[in-house]
Amino acid sequence: MTKRTALIAGNWKLHGSTDLVQALTRAAKQAASSVNAEILLCPPAIWIPAVASALQGSSVKVGGQDVSAHEQGAYTGEISAAMLKACGSQYVIVGHSERRRHHGESSELVARKAEAAFAAGLTPIVCVGETLTEREAGQNWLVVESQLNAIRGLLNKTTEIVIGYEPVWAIGTGKTATPEQAQEMHALIRQWLVQQNAQAGHIRIIYGGSVKADNAAALMAQPDVDGGLVGGASLDAEEFIGICRNV
Ligand code: PGA
Repeated sequence: MTKRTALIAGNWKLHGSTDLVQALTRAAKQAASSVNAEILLCPPAIWIPAVASALQGSSVKVGGQDVSAHEQGAYTGEISAAMLKACGSQYVIVGHSERRRHHGESSELVARKAEAAFAAGLTPIVCVGETLTEREAGQNWLVVESQLNAIRGLLNKTTEIVIGYEPVWAIGTGKTATPEQAQEMHALIRQWLVQQNAQAGHIRIIYGGSVKADNAAALMAQPDVDGGLVGGASLDAEEFIGICRNV
């Protein structure tokens, strides 16, 4: 069986301050050597340099929450993959459901962002996931598959990506997918990935949606759950490290 190192990524969303940077980087650095996971902090872009500098000399990584599909040009407000990389990032989240919903991002745009990240030497964390209505209509796999189909071209070039499965109904709602629901979808995603690229067995599929210290162990114990994409709980050092310790 392919050995995959678990990845616990903290997605701060639109939260953060110099105090939070200090508290979370200190806690993550302290925990890094004694946990069974790679730890990643994804603060708002403005905090990336401060987080990267605080993390120097540790194995904790920093990443962006979004990236432009363009390399440069007249795109006011955008940040390129090369800029994220220059500031110390190694990863970037693309296609988070909040970007898809509030910013109208299509799967095609998400794929272009993932391509831009890859081209600049960043590992994209491509987020997919169905809404509650879609799940209730039995369309969860259809929706996720169509979101995945957009990155087929990228998978022909590289397997240095991470997939984030985040059922929209579980994000920020306190309603976590059961370990069985997560495993069922992760297994389908895994099957799909390997069909596209025989080398895809090592791609990590991480689960997101109300992951907390007390539900992490059961989720992470599933064979195809390779870590967590953590929103709310990543803002509390003790809770976040608690998740990392439960891998
Ligand atoms: P949550 O968010 O942990 O607050 O549910 C997860 C995410 O949106 O990445």
